Amino acid sequence: MYGLGILQGLTVTFKNLMRKPFTIQYPEERIPQHPRFRGEEFTWYEERCTGCASCAKYCPLGIIKIVTHPGKTNMQEGDYYAIDVFDIDIGRCMFCGLCVEACPYDALFMGSGFEEGQYRRQDLVIPVDRLRKASKRPSTWFRPQLEDKGYNPHTGKELSWRQVGRHQQPSQEDLKEKWAER
Ligand code: SF4
Ligand code: SF4
Repeated sequence: MYGLGILQGLTVTFKNLMRKPFTIQYPEERIPQHPRFRGEEFTWYEERCTGCASCAKYCPLGIIKIVTHPGKTNMQEGDYYAIDVFDIDIGRCMFCGLCVEACPYDALFMGSGFEEGQYRRQDLVIPVDRLRKASKRPSTWFRPQLEDKGYNPHTGKELSWRQVGRHQQPSQEDLKEKWAER
């Protein structure tokens, strides 16, 4: 019948007019990010970093550049090197987090931000000085020790290298308790 199609179309329009919108008015409004969000600015703790370059080796895109010299300045035990260059080219990063997974000393964490737009590609390289000065609000992604504490990088305080710690293996007592609960 003539006009039926228009009527059906208008019904859909009116139905949606009454619905709560799914979209928000960014940047005035913001959706809270999950604490495990893999943000782009990375959080790096120089005090925990030995300069082993595992993160650079595991990066499938080869976008982490590390240059070191033998030094005895870092606090992590074992053989260590002082860091001269630690550049991450986030312009080519896919935020897979493999570099964070590969870090044996929990020195590298994903960040929590997503607003790193730049006019020039070279400005998307995060140099070591910026990593050093950046606020330390690490994502909890692949870091159960932070999740266990209920840490949220979007609302919580900055964490020092001592506070980010390592994930401890649960004790036999903890495991027994856990299994007894099931
Ligand atoms: S998140 Fe993935 S692509 Fe980005 S630097 Fe780390 S390993 Fe490379
Ligand atoms: S893997 Fe970790 S300890 Fe090794 S160089 Fe990268 S950030 Fe430093």
